[in-house]
Amino acid sequence: MLGVMGEKERDRTSQRMCVGCGNRAERDELVRLVVGPSAPFVAVDLGRRLGGRGVSVHLRRRCVHEALRRGALARALRGVAEVEPESVERMIDEQLTQRVRGLLSSALRIRRIALGTEAVRAELVATRGDLLVVAEDARGRATELTKLATSIGCATATWGTKASLGEAFLRQELGVFLVTDRGIARAILECLTQIEALSEDE
Ligand SMILES: [Zn+2]
Repeated sequence: MLGVMGEKERDRTSQRMCVGCGNRAERDELVRLVVGPSAPFVAVDLGRRLGGRGVSVHLRRRCVHEALRRGALARALRGVAEVEPESVERMIDEQLTQRVRGLLSSALRIRRIALGTEAVRAELVATRGDLLVVAEDARGRATELTKLATSIGCATATWGTKASLGEAFLRQELGVFLVTDRGIARAILECLTQIEALSEDE
């Protein structure tokens, strides 16, 4: 289940049609949803490795809804299950979050992650860092750390709350962490971007 995205060389020239809006897009801009025989019936094929009937869709609310309402996803699900758009969104969100947590465990295992303000600042000052993640409710020095990260070309993202970040690391609360492995950082950022896109209304 774990693994870093982009290991496999993808054919970047191939285009697919989004079954939600009907527009064509580069394959990387779409996610593949696969219909399965049992709950939750729809799985997001993050590494494009799952077999089965799949459709490509923009990972945004409007396209997912359209795909389920009258698009190919509705057809693929016909006779399998009645699935509400909200439950598919929730499921995708859960799978992406699950993947981020897996990637964070990998980073922890190889000691390529700094947790908490002091540890993060020490790495950034030493110009190390590929992705800085700040909790939505983080205060205090989060802004300063974000500036510091940006100044050394480290990507930044906002995700979750201090409580949910803490949970991911079996702590009570965590306001900020820094990933210092480029591949893992890129894979996490890709998931976080997708989670964000899915929560946007437009
Ligand atoms: Zn679309």
